[in-house]
Amino acid sequence: MNPETHLKTKVLIVGKGVSGLILCYLLEKKGIECILLNKEVNTSATILAETIPPSTLSLLKNIDLLTLFEECASKTYGYQSIWNNIFHSEDFFKHNPFKYGLKLNKRKVISELEKKVKSRIINYNLLKNITSTTTSVQLNNTKYNIDSELIIDATGRNRVILNFFKVPIISYDNNIAFICYLPKTKESLKYGFFTETYESGWGTVSDLNETTRIMTLYSSKNDALHKKLKTFSNWCEILTNTKILKKHLPTGNFKVTGRLANSSIPQKIVGDNWLSIGDAAMAFDPISSHGISNAIFCSLKASESINDLITKNDGTSFNKYQETINAVFNEYYNVKEKLYA
Ligand SMILES: Cc1cc2nc3c(=O)[nH]c(=O)nc-3n(C[C@H](O)[C@H](O)[C@H](O)COP(=O)(O)OP(=O)(O)OC[C@H]3O[C@@H](n4cnc5c(N)ncnc54)[C@H](O)[C@@H]3O)c2cc1C
Repeated sequence: MNPETHLKTKVLIVGKGVSGLILCYLLEKKGIECILLNKEVNTSATILAETIPPSTLSLLKNIDLLTLFEECASKTYGYQSIWNNIFHSEDFFKHNPFKYGLKLNKRKVISELEKKVKSRIINYNLLKNITSTTTSVQLNNTKYNIDSELIIDATGRNRVILNFFKVPIISYDNNIAFICYLPKTKESLKYGFFTETYESGWGTVSDLNETTRIMTLYSSKNDALHKKLKTFSNWCEILTNTKILKKHLPTGNFKVTGRLANSSIPQKIVGDNWLSIGDAAMAFDPISSHGISNAIFCSLKASESINDLITKNDGTSFNKYQETINAVFNEYYNVKEKLYA
């Protein structure tokens, strides 16, 4: 048996996004050993410039990650939107002790979190097998067998471990995001971010850097315009009736990338020796701007449950985690339904 490729750990975390890395960081703080497994997938490359609301900053402060996040972000002070023809301009000052939200450079956050964790990170390109005790993966010609007491699905909407265990996923809609990087037009953005509804859904425009903005149009797979959204040259016609979004369309042709953006939750979030976090545990419509907050929250709650199971032998801790996640998802879903009504 080769000790280099046959490894042993208490917790195996699969997925090196915000949720996987924060869970690893929190478990290390509790003295629980981990290994992180990661596979680079197409979606890892898409830059989304996610925003997080002021309410999440106290959570980050409590886990000593506020400075790290702030160093990988610019501050935002509000947002403007036209929702069903009604103009809203909100600043965050009134609502929260933190007077700002953050617009993240997620790549930088991930790279800084990677520097912070001490656990071994193994990249792989092929998942061979998972049993209750051993996970086998392969990187080119090297095969790794990793014995672990617990396995965590942090693979985002890919839900690789949940799929492996054939856990059904409950999907509440067919929302897809069509993302396009565009040179800035002369139109300015007061808060660096704007949302507007259009006839097939809603769209956002968000500053990325000095020269580029990201425009994202959301629509349901079943919508008549859905196929047309894949081609940028159709966007001008599709956005004709918008007040602001159309002003951010430059002339030229640009690549459009599609990403899953539906609301979904697995039928089971935990099992006897596995647990899911972040988007794998519950995926939100991006309109909520709560995907990253959810990744942080799940990691915190999961670290407490794992700690209770390992150090106090508390067999109910995973079920409590599942109840918490279900309650949060129900609350999110009720708010979302009202928004779309
Ligand atoms: C268009 C769009 C806009 C968004 N805007 C916002 C926003 O403004 N604010 C906000 O808070 N959220 C936003 N989100 C949501 C946010 O991006 C996610 O909720 C968040 O990144 C989830 O983090 P995660 O760690 O759970 O998953 P991910 O970020 O998806 O990370 C998963 C990790 O698992 C790895 N992985 C995938 N498959 C495998 C595999 N087979 N084996 C091993 N590893 C694997 C990936 O490489 C990646 O490192 C947006 C999402 C979309 C699609």
